[in-house]
Amino acid sequence: MNNFDTVIGLEVHTQLKTDSKIFCSCSTQFESPPNTNICPVCCGYPGVLPVFNRKVLSLAIRVSLALNCKINRSIYFERKNYFYPDLPKNYQISQYKLPLGEDGYIELPSGKKVGIERVHMEEDAGKLVHRGDCSLVDFNRTGLPLLEIVSRPDIESPQQAYEYLKYLKLILQYIDASDCDMEKGSLRCDANISLKPAGAGELGTKVELKNMNSFKGVRTALEFEVRRQRKCIERGDKIFQETRLWDVDKLKTSIMRSKEEAHDYRYFPEPDLLDFRVSDDIIEDEKDSLVELPQKKKKRFVEKHGFSEKEADIFVTNPWLADFFEQTLCFHGKCKDVANWLLGPFLEQVNNLEDKFNSVKISPENFSKIIRYFVERKINNIGAKKILALSIVTNEDVDKIIEREKLAQISGTTELEKFAEEVMEENPKPVKQYREGKVQAVMFLVGQIMRKTKGKANPGLAKEILERRLKQ
Ligand SMILES: [Zn+2]
Repeated sequence: MNNFDTVIGLEVHTQLKTDSKIFCSCSTQFESPPNTNICPVCCGYPGVLPVFNRKVLSLAIRVSLALNCKINRSIYFERKNYFYPDLPKNYQISQYKLPLGEDGYIELPSGKKVGIERVHMEEDAGKLVHRGDCSLVDFNRTGLPLLEIVSRPDIESPQQAYEYLKYLKLILQYIDASDCDMEKGSLRCDANISLKPAGAGELGTKVELKNMNSFKGVRTALEFEVRRQRKCIERGDKIFQETRLWDVDKLKTSIMRSKEEAHDYRYFPEPDLLDFRVSDDIIEDEKDSLVELPQKKKKRFVEKHGFSEKEADIFVTNPWLADFFEQTLCFHGKCKDVANWLLGPFLEQVNNLEDKFNSVKISPENFSKIIRYFVERKINNIGAKKILALSIVTNEDVDKIIEREKLAQISGTTELEKFAEEVMEENPKPVKQYREGKVQAVMFLVGQIMRKTKGKANPGLAKEILERRLKQ
């Protein structure tokens, strides 16, 4: 296993989050009936002229910046020519010689840096739907704005490829550039993989893998390909430069085309679009709008708020939760209290909501009251959880709920003394057991006080009072 190095590079296509297509005003809505979001421009009728969507440029620059790329100011598009039934124009408008972004990198949570070779804009092709022995074509997807993100062959294992994809997706979602929904086709991934003798400088023959439709699928396909190529090399067979398709049912790759059959796309400059230069203003605007990226957030949550790396990861993968945490902290400044309630009861209740975080209505200020009242022993644990359950989807004022539901905790010593006296009289057996040395019997009596007060007693205080009386 260790006598070979695995070398992997990934090509990701992600759909940018725009309302209209890249060169016409057709809608990008996903669930429209087939062939309703089309026009002469995206269907390539003769004589029509494409117009470049400004939003696509903004988002593409934002992604390039987030991936630490150098931005090429000079923009010109080229035609990539080929015939396929899902491509009515017989060419795709793409960037070829000069991509928008170059020479960037992503630093994975493990600390591993993966180089980004290029980031370029292009339009999507249509979609073939195969039904029995006939095929149907839907052009809604032609002309959707895509960004192709090509990594350098820096990835060393299928697992690392999986981590790269997860992290790239997180970045794209952070900066609101793409939905990254693989089921809707707004994120797709092809992989290049080769093996070489451990430590050798020269790369082995690379094989391209296509047709993986999930991140786990990419990992499994790469794992299969590592085994296949290793067996080939060990047998003394040659690895051919070819494109292989992943078969998710058979869990194996099979050859799609060899290098000899590879396309010659005959790129040439797109004559219908003018070249232009990106102004500094546009780049500065995107730099300003760039939010805090996941790695930076993680570092801040560890250093500033004192979370462990694992806890910080919960916030990093859920920016909504991170924002809510920091806003709550403005009202109740004790990090540990807020974290305990947020990562405990709050998350537990959110997980039971049908629409998860989308259903949450409680404001950070109202939430902070629950925490504060609990810390100040105005309400007990049971009461606090009940209040949270009532206010999480309504944001009803916590004070009003406490009053209406009579949830204020009984912390008055006189009142609790009275209940302690009562339960000791009513339960002589545990009283005797306690006095004979079975100290845990006190918990039964605490339970009885909680029952009498319908859960409103302060259990800690009740226990203290009982113990004092039992020792008398
Ligand atoms: Zn159109």
